Amino acid sequence: MKKKLFFASKNKGKIREVASIFGDGVEIVSPLDYDETFEVIEDGDTFEANAIKKAKEAYERFGTPALADDSGLVVDQLDGAPGVYSARYAGEPGDDEANNRKVLRELDGKPEPHAARFVCCAVYHDGAETVVATGKIEGRIIHAPRGENGFGYDPLFLPEGYDRTTAEMSLEEKNKISHRARAFTELQRKLSER
Ligand code: IMP
Repeated sequence: MKKKLFFASKNKGKIREVASIFGDGVEIVSPLDYDETFEVIEDGDTFEANAIKKAKEAYERFGTPALADDSGLVVDQLDGAPGVYSARYAGEPGDDEANNRKVLRELDGKPEPHAARFVCCAVYHDGAETVVATGKIEGRIIHAPRGENGFGYDPLFLPEGYDRTTAEMSLEEKNKISHRARAFTELQRKLSER
């Protein structure tokens, strides 16, 4: 029988990406299969604290070994902001355009390049064991949004070694280098070595 892992996310793109990283030997299920009202309050000070909280609450609620993640943008010249507040940096949760405008406003007048990275913390929890892996993608913030793909801060983020923002890449291309892919690939490796 396939090993079943519960992934505490309702984002279909993420669920597909994580399922492809874990491969055919693992069945990934999510709140979309059981209870779409499943919600965890992300009130931790770090990506790791939030991801651990989500994985633990998912395990306690559904009784299946659980995966969870938390991610965001970290800008050096903003002392690490938006960080764990990435989704609601400008106030309203999920208002990507307002969040991007606020990043540009806060960086206005600061010398370029504006070094930044996307960070993702991925966690596995099965009641007895908690395994944590972090993935990062380094880059910088440009002075005006570019590109229509992706979500969140993608139009402002130029990965190191690329001349296109993550919003100018195809989803497939971005997923190959993304912080999330790196975190879950590392988590999968750690789990397979136990
Ligand atoms: P979550 O961990 O998926 O809830 O992401 C939190 C927030 O971080 C999102 O709402 C985005 O603002 C930002 N974020 C996380 N990953 C990405 C990414 O790959 N591109 C752009 N923004 C991201």
